[in-house]
This record gives sequence, C-alpha cells and structure tokens, in this order.
Amino acid sequence: MKKRGGRHFFTGGGPGLLALLLGLSACQTVKPVAPPGPREAPRALRYHVAYVREPGHALDVEVVLDQEGAQEFLFTEPGGVKTVWAFSGGGGPAEGLPVSGGRVRLPAGTRSLRYRYPLDELIRERGPGFFTGMGQGEARHLAGRTWLLRPWGASPSRRVELSLTGAEALLPWVPDAAGHYRLTAEDLVDSGFHSFGGRRCQARLPGMVLDVALVAPMRHLEEAAVCGWLERTAGQLLTVRRTFPSPRVALHVVPVEGSSRPNLFGMLMWSAPPSISLLVGQEARLDALEADWAALHELLHLTHPAFQPRTAWISEGLATYFTELARARSGRLTPVQAWTRLLEGFERGKAQAAGRTLEEMIQEDAPPGIYWVGAYLSLMLDVELRRVTQHQRGLEDVLEHLAREGPTSTPAAYGAAVDAVAGKPVFDEVLARHLREPAFAGLGGLLEALGVTPTPGGIRLHPARESLLRETLESRSASSLPAVAADERRYATVPPSSQSIPRSLERKHP
Ligand SMILES: [Zn+2]
Repeated sequence: MKKRGGRHFFTGGGPGLLALLLGLSACQTVKPVAPPGPREAPRALRYHVAYVREPGHALDVEVVLDQEGAQEFLFTEPGGVKTVWAFSGGGGPAEGLPVSGGRVRLPAGTRSLRYRYPLDELIRERGPGFFTGMGQGEARHLAGRTWLLRPWGASPSRRVELSLTGAEALLPWVPDAAGHYRLTAEDLVDSGFHSFGGRRCQARLPGMVLDVALVAPMRHLEEAAVCGWLERTAGQLLTVRRTFPSPRVALHVVPVEGSSRPNLFGMLMWSAPPSISLLVGQEARLDALEADWAALHELLHLTHPAFQPRTAWISEGLATYFTELARARSGRLTPVQAWTRLLEGFERGKAQAAGRTLEEMIQEDAPPGIYWVGAYLSLMLDVELRRVTQHQRGLEDVLEHLAREGPTSTPAAYGAAVDAVAGKPVFDEVLARHLREPAFAGLGGLLEALGVTPTPGGIRLHPARESLLRETLESRSASSLPAVAADERRYATVPPSSQSIPRSLERKHP
C-alpha cells in the first residue's frame, strides 16, 4: 500500500479523533456446515454475501465456483481473513485453507468456499480503517480490496454474479432488477469502496448520477443537503470539461465523530464505475463543506484518464491545479483568492524542495510537494498552450483529447495530447525548461508576465504583458468551451459510456 498523505492527511487531530468501534465479542472462527452443493458447476462464479450484525458486524461470504480445476484466489489487500473453508462436491468435511499473503490455493474438485470477514473484530484490534472498515451504529464502510476474494487471473470473460443480504449496500456497480450484480472477474480487481447500511441520496446532473451513501447522519445536515452540496460541487466539473466525464459514480460520505472539519480524507478508486470516499467531520456545517476543496478535488480526478503507470505529478497536478481554477470559474473564489491558494501551495512545494530541482521532486514523489509540483507544471503547460494558440486552446482541451482516446492513458500519451492541442511540439520543451532548475524557479517571471504580484497585504492582480492570458485561465468561459450559454452547457448530455476502466489497473488515490 502506498503511503497516503499530504492534502489527504487526516487534518483534524489524528487517529484519536476516530472513536474506536467496539464489537460485542470476537467473531469466532467456526468450522462452517457444508452448503448443499450444486451438481454441476454454474456458468458464473457466484458470490452470496451476508452482512451480519451478531456478535459483531461481519461479512459472511459463500463463493460457488464455476471451475473445478486447482486455482488460486486472492485478497488484494491481505490481512482480514486468515482461513477460507473449501467444500468439495462429495459432501465431505470442509477443508480449512490458509490465506498467505492474501493468496489462497484451491485444490482441484473444490465446489464452493466460505469465509468470514470480521469487520468489527478488525476495528477493535486495529482501530477504524478507511480500507479495512469503519462506521457508526449499524453501518460500515470499507474497500472491496480487503474483503472480496477474487480469482487471481482476472479474465474479463469470466462471469461473476454477486448477491447481498442483511443490509442495503452501495457498491460501484448497479444491480439488476432482482438485486443481483452481474459482473466479470475483471470487475473484482479494483472493486472500489463499499458501504453497508446508512442512508442514501442521489445527485442527478445532466449525464451523470452520483449515488451517495451517508454512512452515519451528519449532525447539522439531512441527506438531501449532503446531496445538494455534492451536486453543486460536481457541477463545477463543467468549468473544465464540456460534459460530465462519468455517467455514474458511487460516492461514500463517512462522517467522523467529534470533528467539525469539512475534510479529513478523500480518495478516488478506479473501480468501474469509479468510487469516491470522503471522510468528513460529523459536526461540519454546510457552509464549511461548500467552501472546502476536497470533494471537488476528488471529483476532478474523473476529468482525466487513469494514468499507467500512476504518475502523480500529472494526475494530482491536474486535480490540484483545476481545483482552484474551477472554483474561480464558478465564482466560488475570486481570482485573487484562487491565485492566493495556488501561490500558497507553490510555497509549500518550494519549502519541501529546499533548493532541489523539479526532477528530484518528481522522483521523490512525496506529498504535499508532488501535488504542487504537478500543479505548477500544469500551469506552465496551460500558459504555453494558450501562448502558442493565441488564447484559443488550453489544458482542458488536452483533457478532451485524452477522453476521446479512452479511460486510461500514459505519461507519453499525455505529452502527445499536449502537442496535438498545441499544434506543435511543446511538451518536452516545457519540461526541459523547468525540470533541471530549482523547483519553482520560473514562477517569479511567469507571475510578472501574468500580472500577479504578491504584496505584504496579499496578492494584487493588475494589467501586464500577458494578463489577458491570465484572465482566460480564471474565466468561466474557458477558451475551449463551445460558445453557448453556461446553462446550456450544464444541460448538455453525454451518452452513457460504453468504455470501462480496465480493471487490471490498480490506481489508488492519492
Ligand atoms: Zn488527488
């Protein structure tokens, strides 16, 4: 697991903030009774999942196999389940199979499996975990990577059916009318975030639906207010993209007791469809949530493809840069406030760099500096694109270009997209200009050209050689957007995407 941190650190007082959730007693590892096995292997791998509450919350999982040969299964994030019980077709006793490094080898002839993911036991032993499980009352939030055993070989042609009992769940996928999830083994590679229990609301935007799980009640907001906040936040994506980038997103809001901070942690996972989870202070008020950046930042990750390999200076740079631009374009921030935020971030990056080059910062790949190095390079590329196209095109055109190419991309394809939008090679040249100099060394000259002057009393924006270019960055009518009224843009629809993110991709955020 990659270290998380930086802009995604818990900022509200550390782990002590999270009340330990005590289960009533330990989940016992009881040798389960053999299920009535099917006579023939089904045509799909079938999961029956029960969310149980006693003696503590747990997920009881039965997997009926579609293939009888010896095979290997995997918990992507190991540690939650120690033993998987295997049943052969002959009705014999269950065989306890050890899980080692997340892997479990099934002998030939195994017809079905059973295991328990002991949610509350893990919470009691290790404390609440964003991936391993947390929640309040009857509801729990966790990541599929910890509890959902999946075939080691994730073939997109291997059918999977999953059914759930015991609680209403929010998973990345949409169930059929009977409540069954019809998936492929590839869907299980990154199975996103899951919530069991809690409340639901839906934010509907033209061409995008946010299915929201509220894992515990917010002290000062009803569900509808939570969805209203998320809908207004997601609406700002249209200051960056022409249409909403994803037809459906599952979004989990996980309130944390005792905090009034609007933002404790956030993450996007590239499940298909994508999932986002936000930890927010249970006492946070609507105005604080509306003014915060984190939900917008996570949603802005939907506007770019998943980069393989994960390249934080590009993905985090884009999300960090456009968070401030989108808020200026939507009127949430004044241009002065947006530039103030950017410059404060660049100062943090510069402090972390301590004289090192951008290239060294990228190699270090450590928050928060990598976010601001990325935002700085995004600004440099955006300015260059606007210069060479006489303000006609910018970095959001690169996002449109990449979106046409598919749901994943590479750093090289990103560079090629920048060059394609520019109409000539600029990407390597911009990088070459900045990578070997001390990080942020080029900022002073750029700010002078754009008419952004830091003063002891704050940022001053003023006419300068390229202040018109600066205004195109801040402007709601970004250069690339079609010449229609903002409201028409808002209601442009996007056809449901047939594209899906290859599930072989394991791209956590951040
Ligand atoms: Zn991010």
